[in-house]
Amino acid sequence: MTAKIGYFSTNRNLDGIPWVTPFKGYASFREALLQGQAPDEGLFMPDPIPVIAPEEIMSLKEAPYTAVAMLVAAAFLQDEIPYDILKRIVEDAYNFEVPLEYVEEGRYIMRLDQGPTASFKDFAARMMARLMSHFRPRGIRLNVLVATSGDTGSAVGEAFRDVEGVDVYILYPQGEVSGRQKKQLDTIGGNVRAISIEGQFDDCQNLVKQAFSDSSLGSLNLTSANSINFGRILPQIIYYVYAYTRLGRRGEGIVFSVPSGNFGNALGCEYARRMGLPVAKLVMPTNENNEFPRFLETGIYEKISPSRACLSNAMNVGHPSNLARFFDLYGGTVDRNGAVHRYPDREAMRRHIFSVSISDQETRETIRRVYHHRGVVLEPHGAVGWRGLEVYLERFGDFPLCVSLETAHPAKFPEEVEVLLGIPLELPQSMRDLDKRTGEPLALSRDYKLFKAFLQDTLKIKD
Ligand SMILES: *Cc1c(COP(=O)(O)O)cnc(C)c1O
Repeated sequence: MTAKIGYFSTNRNLDGIPWVTPFKGYASFREALLQGQAPDEGLFMPDPIPVIAPEEIMSLKEAPYTAVAMLVAAAFLQDEIPYDILKRIVEDAYNFEVPLEYVEEGRYIMRLDQGPTASFKDFAARMMARLMSHFRPRGIRLNVLVATSGDTGSAVGEAFRDVEGVDVYILYPQGEVSGRQKKQLDTIGGNVRAISIEGQFDDCQNLVKQAFSDSSLGSLNLTSANSINFGRILPQIIYYVYAYTRLGRRGEGIVFSVPSGNFGNALGCEYARRMGLPVAKLVMPTNENNEFPRFLETGIYEKISPSRACLSNAMNVGHPSNLARFFDLYGGTVDRNGAVHRYPDREAMRRHIFSVSISDQETRETIRRVYHHRGVVLEPHGAVGWRGLEVYLERFGDFPLCVSLETAHPAKFPEEVEVLLGIPLELPQSMRDLDKRTGEPLALSRDYKLFKAFLQDTLKIKD
């Protein structure tokens, strides 16, 4: 009935560029998941994008989140994974609430902050972890290496906790993570090991990169879990469909505003629209890293290097890694260095997407104003999203149904939010339990030879 879905590379047309041998073929989902990126270092793209019928979406109006997750996930995966197993994965991954908070007539905040690390990254990481466990070769243990400067690492670590057949090693810079982040990373335990590196984030990243490219470690089943893996994009399609099942009336359009850094979250919305969700506009506000809104306005893309340090620190990105996917979907090609080989159809992009840069000052004002006028508490990322939605509506006129995403829990940013609002914030349950947890990291220097020896001595490769 449906065509089989294959995954091609965003670099497939880069003929004649010295550092690329374009991958012209198609991978399966399983290959895309386990390889992370295409052999030519491009990003995997599903083809064709599956479509879901409006009746199917509307039939889930009262259904739980996991039923919506099944509708979306099965559309991509039905050829590669039995329905019952997929159902088990989805139900195990999504055991927390997804609140849609009323702000004012037709305006809602979708809170994606109820997972174990109170960040929207839990949604993607939890499902990817379980898919990797399912798709690993028989009898093999996978070893996931992650370098982190904080929140991504803890979301990934928590997501893999107790997942069968996978061990995770998280490298973080000794002096560059907050006390709470350190506690969160050090105490996951079980199959997840924290390694504090005497050095900076770049040192952690270099150690991981060297290990991946070291052919003498080929037998260690090393795997990455980074944000470009399509296995992390797929789960981020689901909550857009979910929001619509709760709030949309048949055929009605919806505007989503997605605070954006590496564009993985917004990409989920772009795919949801292409699958049939009536998304009238995808609003993608950025912080002061404004390379994308500037491109939509001027037609010229220039990455920002080094990226600017803003309050919404998870969005301090000067060249979004998923931009290559957005460009590809609109007929363009940009490489990982930010060089544009072919510009996309900017007019088509502007029909579907609006982007605007929000300053730190506007971010703070928004946190204060939305709390005082509406009693709604936002943190810096969510405030960028909300302000971006307001700017869109000011410029293009009112729209009956709009949802802005809150991507982290406000209590994770007490130094900003509590100070701005003058109120204490309660941590979500998952983070309150943190104080009771114990665990110590392993400490290593940034020397690759020692790291390599550690890997060779420690990693288990058989299940
Ligand atoms: C990662 C992150 C973002 C940015 O999401 P992208 O998918 O990279 O655009 C926004 N908010 C928070 C809290 C994040 O952790």
